[in-house]
Amino acid sequence: MNRSDFLKNTALLSAGTFLIPKLHFYQNSPFTELRNGVGMFSMRGGTIGWLVTDDAIVAIDSQYADTAADFVSGIGQFGGGPEKVLFNTHHHGDHTAGNKVLNEDGYRIIAHEQVPVLQQRTAEVQESEDDQAYAETTFDESYELDLGMETIIAKHYGRAHTSGDAVIWLREANIAHMGDLVFNRMYPFIDRNGGASIKGWIRLLETVADEADSETQFIFGHGNPEYGVTGTANDLLYMRDFLSALLDFTRQQIDDGMSREDIMETTSLEQFPDHYSPSNFLSLSRNLDIAYSELTEVN
Ligand SMILES: [Zn+2]
Repeated sequence: MNRSDFLKNTALLSAGTFLIPKLHFYQNSPFTELRNGVGMFSMRGGTIGWLVTDDAIVAIDSQYADTAADFVSGIGQFGGGPEKVLFNTHHHGDHTAGNKVLNEDGYRIIAHEQVPVLQQRTAEVQESEDDQAYAETTFDESYELDLGMETIIAKHYGRAHTSGDAVIWLREANIAHMGDLVFNRMYPFIDRNGGASIKGWIRLLETVADEADSETQFIFGHGNPEYGVTGTANDLLYMRDFLSALLDFTRQQIDDGMSREDIMETTSLEQFPDHYSPSNFLSLSRNLDIAYSELTEVN
């Protein structure tokens, strides 16, 4: 590049920066705005959803202590407050390990009644009890929070990813946070010890897809990097189809006399060849293992 081109580009860049300061401001930021004051925050662990209104800041899930600190310091740029509320979609550490950081910043925590129970049980095993903050407000079926310009409804649909999952609906924005009820185009964690049910999960995805309309936007806990962590009801139905195929395939193999170990050798399901597996923990083999347990009701 010669000097005059360089100057021209520099001038264009500054003009651009001047005209669209927001775009420049958000470059490389973990914060993404969606609509109606709702956005998401992605660093490590389950995607955080957020809402900022004149009166309140709402967070959905809290990731880890270090990334939660980045969330707390960064969300201020969008205004909002003074009321601060944190919903947990379920108890897993990559969604609740930042609870304490948000709680100390004034967020009160709301979750399904199973969340603190399972969170505490896990913390005892991992000897991380001092790092926890638990929901002080819990609900069984649903919980509604009226914030004037937005109404938030946390709703439990029965056992699925765990026994304490909630979908967090932001009614006016027509956005719902699915927590880990959607692993978008990747092999999910099915927490059988935490009360998971593949059959319940299939029913849940159908019900939630039915409750949505074509404009509903969904936030997912985790996603294949190619597909991301937002989507539509069609993505819920795609995941339903994967879980149905997982159960059908495993049932067929059991009927054919295959052992658990043989079934777990399968490397991909025909209809879902490009499902993403970031680790052995999130793999088809682990999914088949859990499907086998669910279908034979043994551990
Ligand atoms: Zn989870």
